[in-house]
Amino acid sequence: MMPHAGLSDVGMRREHNEDAMLVAEPMFAVADGVGGSARGEVASQLALDTLATHATRIVHAADCAAAIAAMEQAVLAANAAVHDAQSRDAALQGMATTLTAAVVRPGGEVIVGHVGDSRLYVLSAAGARQATQDHSVVGELLRSGRIDANTAAQHPQRNVITRALGPETDVSVDAFSLLVGPGDWLLACSDGLSEHVADAELVATIVEGGEPIDGSLARLVALANERGGTDNITAVAAQPVPSDVSGELRIEVLSAALDAGAAETVSSMVPAAPSAVEASGELPALQPMAPEEPTTPPWWRHEWIWWTAAGLVLATAIVLTWTQSYFLLERADGRVGINRGFPVWRLSTPYRSSSIAAAELSSADRESYVESKRLLGRAESEKLLDQLAEELDA
Ligand code: MN
Repeated sequence: MMPHAGLSDVGMRREHNEDAMLVAEPMFAVADGVGGSARGEVASQLALDTLATHATRIVHAADCAAAIAAMEQAVLAANAAVHDAQSRDAALQGMATTLTAAVVRPGGEVIVGHVGDSRLYVLSAAGARQATQDHSVVGELLRSGRIDANTAAQHPQRNVITRALGPETDVSVDAFSLLVGPGDWLLACSDGLSEHVADAELVATIVEGGEPIDGSLARLVALANERGGTDNITAVAAQPVPSDVSGELRIEVLSAALDAGAAETVSSMVPAAPSAVEASGELPALQPMAPEEPTTPPWWRHEWIWWTAAGLVLATAIVLTWTQSYFLLERADGRVGINRGFPVWRLSTPYRSSSIAAAELSSADRESYVESKRLLGRAESEKLLDQLAEELDA
């Protein structure tokens, strides 16, 4: 049982609340429906209902990659549900919804699925980090560097989203994992909250507020309403790993993440462990180990180096063999000559010719020296050719 809460509010200007939320540990999600005449409500609820049926599959997936794939499937299923509903019922046409979902797996591993401009934040004492990208016109302009954050906040198209569930049979889903540290909070919210409340205020209220999480969410929603409440406001928060988790457990979590290749996430998101002295007030028998900084692997750990080396060795061997291999053959003019290289396809070049007609050789000589195309050294092949010439003269 992890601390968590969810709150959804119609806001000050709208008649309906078209947002929906899912607060079902270990799955947490928000959906912001659009479509007017209450169709947005249908879209957001339908998306979350569909998503919820996939929770078990994500939680019990064999590993992180399988869990991410299961999350992507869940969001695609939600899209199909919203899309199919409107092709069956004309009254629902034009509905769509955002979806931002998090599933917490053991060890603080969080699987995220995301489409649209709702957001997932990771809040810690170190600050707020937006884990999702806004699929909106303004979000894309920001990411491409064409506008700055100040312009974005005032942009007239800041509510226009570029990806949503419902309009198409298919949708591109952001699905990924992240790791949270002890005491970190996940916060999923609709744009009705992020529009009016600054990142620093989220941290101040939820991480540093010192009150139960439902009280913190009520405070944030009230703040958004005080500042206009121009849209529906929804916030869902959960704390996957308690803040008093021991240093040892934390290191286990870290090693698991490093093994899973999540080193980057770990270093950016796990704050320093409180020392054992601080935590217990007594001298510890053993100091918790400092987690190792993720480092780039040494050069010999790169697989491609070994493949390249093996390739070079093989190529060298082939070239050496080629330059030192000679064989006798019957040329097109019926004369016996020496070629250098391999007696296959065109992997040889003429080296020496002779006036010996192959037809004049005894069938035994012809068979064993010319037709066999046996590989010889250079001196050996020349000696053999001279010997055949002598035999013929005799
Ligand atoms: Mn909204």
